[in-house]
Amino acid sequence: MRTDNDQWDITISVGQTALFVAASRALEARKPHPLAVDHYAEVFCRAAGGDWVAAVEGTDPEHPLQTEFGVDFVNFQGARTKYFDDYFRRVADAGVRQIVLLAAGLDSRAYRLPWADGTVVYELDVPKVLEFKREVLRRHGATPTAERREVPVDLRDDWPAALRANGFDASQPSAWIAEGLLIYLPADAQELLFAGIDALSAPGSFVAIEESAPMPMDVFEVKRAEALASGDPNSFFALVFNEQCAPGEQWFSARGWTASTTTLNECLHEVGRPAPAPDSEAAQMTGSISLMWARKG
Ligand code: SAM
Repeated sequence: MRTDNDQWDITISVGQTALFVAASRALEARKPHPLAVDHYAEVFCRAAGGDWVAAVEGTDPEHPLQTEFGVDFVNFQGARTKYFDDYFRRVADAGVRQIVLLAAGLDSRAYRLPWADGTVVYELDVPKVLEFKREVLRRHGATPTAERREVPVDLRDDWPAALRANGFDASQPSAWIAEGLLIYLPADAQELLFAGIDALSAPGSFVAIEESAPMPMDVFEVKRAEALASGDPNSFFALVFNEQCAPGEQWFSARGWTASTTTLNECLHEVGRPAPAPDSEAAQMTGSISLMWARKG
């Protein structure tokens, strides 16, 4: 069960969700025609060891990523990664040189995208997650393709001050991403996050988010009770809040941004991957997800 000041490292609670999506990206990268290739994803999973190695090698048929749900989830991650990779190519072409990865987790875009000279990538996440990432990449000998600055901070705290203290310049355009984050924040923290992005964004800035429409509260409560009864503290429904301060397009459009939203199912269709079958385990989750990007001014 989440609490106001709960903390984690890469192996527990919200921290291990970064490994789960990394494992999915590693499986996507192994396909004959991947939507995105993130070689570092497998490096992170191997460094974490245990189940994570079996997950990427496909040697444990019981692992959630080897089930029908897993097939759908990996397609979802492939489509999501491509959507945001394309977004970053667009913002780089528009001349933006300040990139902010909110809840960077094991996102390796600072190492694998071809950034223009002078680009600075700020990575915000909790200290222990950034520490794991830094150590693994150092041991692997990875070199970033932009200047990378870590900002260890809890996004429920005063992260704008921490970002500025690391050199972020609010007078220059920036490009933001909140991928795999909003579901782990209560609505008031989502509102503060959006407000912080807007306040720090000069005209010409970009934002991209992944968002989920909440499920009916009574349905959610049942799922959460099941998750808690299972005794697994990392269970999805024990970690998420099922809250939304506002759909991103609505929130940002009301403040002078021009926004465009795509449902995940539309996105899957565009990249030639099937949406989960309506009666499948993944259908409710993927059917509630949208991807949005917006430009200010
Ligand atoms: N954006 C990355 C990606 O897509 O690969 C990571 C997504 S992972 C599902 C969720 C990440 O959100 C974790 O790395 C976790 O530590 C981070 N996170 C969640 N709540 C946070 C908070 N309040 N402050 C900082 N980081 C947070």
